[in-house]
Amino acid sequence: MDSSILVERTLAVIKPDAMDKAAEIEDVIHRHGFMILQRRKIHLSPEEASDFYVDHYGKMFFPSLVAYMSSAPIIAMVLAKDNAIESWKELIGPTNPFKARETHPRSLRDTYGKDQTRNAVHGSANQRTAEREIHFLFHDSIVEPIVSDLSAKDYLEVNVNPTLLKGMTELCKIKPKDPVTWLADWIIENNPNKPKVAQYLVAEK
Ligand code: GDP
Ligand code: MG
Repeated sequence: MDSSILVERTLAVIKPDAMDKAAEIEDVIHRHGFMILQRRKIHLSPEEASDFYVDHYGKMFFPSLVAYMSSAPIIAMVLAKDNAIESWKELIGPTNPFKARETHPRSLRDTYGKDQTRNAVHGSANQRTAEREIHFLFHDSIVEPIVSDLSAKDYLEVNVNPTLLKGMTELCKIKPKDPVTWLADWIIENNPNKPKVAQYLVAEK
């Protein structure tokens, strides 16, 4: 079965120390083929920062991590791409920017990270963490991979794909200047669910 419509999501955060480079970092994100599905700038309270990093509760660096993450605004983003979680982790590099410099040169933490705590960006560790973190920072978002379940796929295959395929075939023949508007008009005109009343109503004169 075609798996090209499965799109994985991950949570990315631009941390306080890298906020002045946010535009550059978002540019890198786009250039690496990620879609930014949602984006918000937030200033976490210390309580929220502790909740976000609850898995690290009790570690030596936990208090300084919480103080740092609640010290100034951050940008949280939901990124989508095939294999988003691993790709984003690879692009940001290891936790320690000095190690990143050796093992992942030109990674985001090599480029923008300052030290073990102020390492510029965050990425979800795995699928379960990604879901939890996206829920945590984007309360209203749907975190399942887009159109990943079979019922949605079947629904599209039966109800949408045949019409879309015809429309796109026509589109490629005609190659209009504004393909998206052309396709939208074509779909409305050729909607198989539209009642075909017009022909019967035109009375012969
Ligand atoms: P990540 O998944 O690569 O971000 O790393 P972790 O989940 O292990 O840790 C979360 C965050 O805590 C890191 O991104 C750092 O900001 C901070 N941190 C982790 N390990 C250390 C450490 O050994 N010392 C200090 N000072 N901060 C750390
Ligand atoms: Mg982590």
